[in-house]
Amino acid sequence: MDKHLETLCVQAGYSPKNGEPRILPIYQSTTFKYESSEEMGQLFDLEASGYFYTRLQNPTNDAVAARIAALEGGVAAMLTSSGQAANFFAVFNICQAGDHFISASAIYGGTLNLFSTTMKKMGIEVTFISPDCTEEELNAAFRENTKCVFGETLSNPSLAVLDIEKFAKAAHSHGVPLIVDNTFPTPINLRPFEFGADIVTHSTTKYMDGHASAVGGAIIDSGNFDWSAHAEKFACLTEPDESYHGIRYAEKFGKAAYITKATSQMMRDLGSIQSPQNAFLLNLGLETLALRMAQHCKNAQKIAEWLESNDKIAWVNYPGLPGNKYHALAQKYMPSGTCGVISFGVKSGRDGAMAFMDHLQLAAIVTHVADARTCVLHPASTTHRQLTDEQLAAAGVPGDMIRLSVGIENADDLIADLEQALAHA
Ligand SMILES: *Cc1c(COP(=O)(O)O)cnc(C)c1O
Repeated sequence: MDKHLETLCVQAGYSPKNGEPRILPIYQSTTFKYESSEEMGQLFDLEASGYFYTRLQNPTNDAVAARIAALEGGVAAMLTSSGQAANFFAVFNICQAGDHFISASAIYGGTLNLFSTTMKKMGIEVTFISPDCTEEELNAAFRENTKCVFGETLSNPSLAVLDIEKFAKAAHSHGVPLIVDNTFPTPINLRPFEFGADIVTHSTTKYMDGHASAVGGAIIDSGNFDWSAHAEKFACLTEPDESYHGIRYAEKFGKAAYITKATSQMMRDLGSIQSPQNAFLLNLGLETLALRMAQHCKNAQKIAEWLESNDKIAWVNYPGLPGNKYHALAQKYMPSGTCGVISFGVKSGRDGAMAFMDHLQLAAIVTHVADARTCVLHPASTTHRQLTDEQLAAAGVPGDMIRLSVGIENADDLIADLEQALAHA
């Protein structure tokens, strides 16, 4: 990396030339004008690069994607309308009916539903495996038709830390890429490509936007996975695409093949583009990402320690606590901090949790995390309510769990709020 993350947050992706706007403009235009049909035709054939329709590409979105690619240390990136769309495209770009993939079981509820229900209907089968599995168990999950491995670097909401090197090694020894959702740590705290992940996804809705203002997602490719070396598995990238006059993505676009296919084929046909207006808001969020992550982590550490010492609290889960199951992995992969999310249970159980949450004044009850403002949620009755008890256990979401997303307020004010609300628990 030639520049530090703080610099990339404000400078990467957009460099205005003489007399151009200092701030990334919003290209609020569905379409782009050309002098000749011939020029336009070249764009449709992917023979020339340029903008023609915002469903495929837009200059505002591309600048923001380039900033995120720089932060992650990838070669190419694209924005999507949501984190859900990012994870769906990331897998569906290389999996089709009849294929199989492996996913860590400790993942976001929406992603779990997407994989286990909706993609199953599309003929794509998933095997869930505990992130704490042994190498033998992981290797045993692979099949002839396995096309990728998926996991969350720091899972929402169970805060399991993925052993990226273990998962990458298994994926690579079976000739498939490792895709990781890096939403919670963000590239400020963890850059998964440095540990062998091949593709990174984000719900930019969370810390990247950081202000709870715009839903969005991103996919970033390291450019490291060699599709041609496993050509029979990844015919979708190595064989001709008849919908583009027989283009072979891997041959024509090299390291940019995966993102080019996702943009020109997935986005063309499925159309989950991020609006340029939302990309602009995301970009503003990215400018302060490094500052905010440091404050989120500092506050969360202080609050996790305070909760742990409080006699009304049954348990606290935060990887920054020395007694945490994932402390050692967190130290290895996220030495400067994990994220602002803590989960805990109150001794008075589910009813006590509800009473406590209802009495909070600063921390708001919202279906959100990773906001500048502190918020709380009861996952078992909200984000994870579609899951069976068995799935809840596999996802690491007990019924009494409260998810606290610590914001960037002053930690002492937040502790005072928690303390007065706990009196009601
Ligand atoms: C929120 C979230 C998603 C889904 O993102 P949306 O932007 O809400 O669609 C995916 N993965 C993780 C880890 C998340 O926290």
